[in-house]
Amino acid sequence: MADLVLPAPTPSLLPVAGSDALFPVRRIFCVGRNYAEHAREMGNDPDRDPPFFFTKPADAAVPSGVTLPFPKATENLHHEAELVVAIGTGGAEIAAADAARHIWGYGAGNDLTRRDLQAEAKEMRRPWDMAKGFDASAVIGALHAAPETGPMTSGRITCSVEGELRQDGDLSEMIWPTDQIIAFLSRLVTLAPGDLIMTGTPAGVGAIAPGQTCTVEIAGLSPATVTFS
Ligand code: MN
Repeated sequence: MADLVLPAPTPSLLPVAGSDALFPVRRIFCVGRNYAEHAREMGNDPDRDPPFFFTKPADAAVPSGVTLPFPKATENLHHEAELVVAIGTGGAEIAAADAARHIWGYGAGNDLTRRDLQAEAKEMRRPWDMAKGFDASAVIGALHAAPETGPMTSGRITCSVEGELRQDGDLSEMIWPTDQIIAFLSRLVTLAPGDLIMTGTPAGVGAIAPGQTCTVEIAGLSPATVTFS
C-alpha cells in the first residue's frame, strides 16, 4: 500500500451509554420537515410529500456535554431536537419491514441550524450546506443499543434552553417513521455501518444565544446538551 501524504483522519467517535465503547461516525444524513407542526411553522404545507434529505460532514458530530464557541457567521442559531438513528448494518434498497435489522441504536440529537443562512439559501434557491453543515453542528447524546431501547416509534422529545421548555413533541408524530426513512434513504444511497440519520424536529424551534445551554431529551435515551461560550 502506498504511503499517505497526510495522516488519515480519525472519525468522530460517540459514546455508547453504559459502556466504554465508542461508535465511529461515517456520515450524517438528515431529514427535513418530518413533523407537520414544524413544517407549518416554517411556512410549508405538510402534505406527506416523500421525505427529503440533506447532510452534514461526519466530523460535525460532537458528543453531549461540550462547550462550543458560538458558531461563526450567524445571528440566529436555532436548536432542532431530533431522534438520531445509528446504522449498524449497511445496505441498499432496504424494505421498511427489514429496516430494524440495519439499526444499531438510537440517540438524542440537536440539528443546530444557522437559520439566517438557511432563510437566505431558500430565498436564493441555493443549497443548505452552510446553514446546516457547519463545524460541530450535530450534538449527539450517548447512543443506546436498539435491543435495549426497542423500536423508538413513540416517546416524548423535548428541547429546553436555560431550563425553559421550547420544543415538546412525541416521536409518534413523525410524518415518516424511522423504518420508512431508511427505506427512502437507501434508495438514494447505499447505507453503511456508522451512518447517522437525524430524523427531523417537532415544532418550537428557536434561537440559542451566546452563554446559553441547550438540552435535547428523548424518553429512554441520554440527553444531548451543549453550552455556547
Ligand atoms: Mn432538522
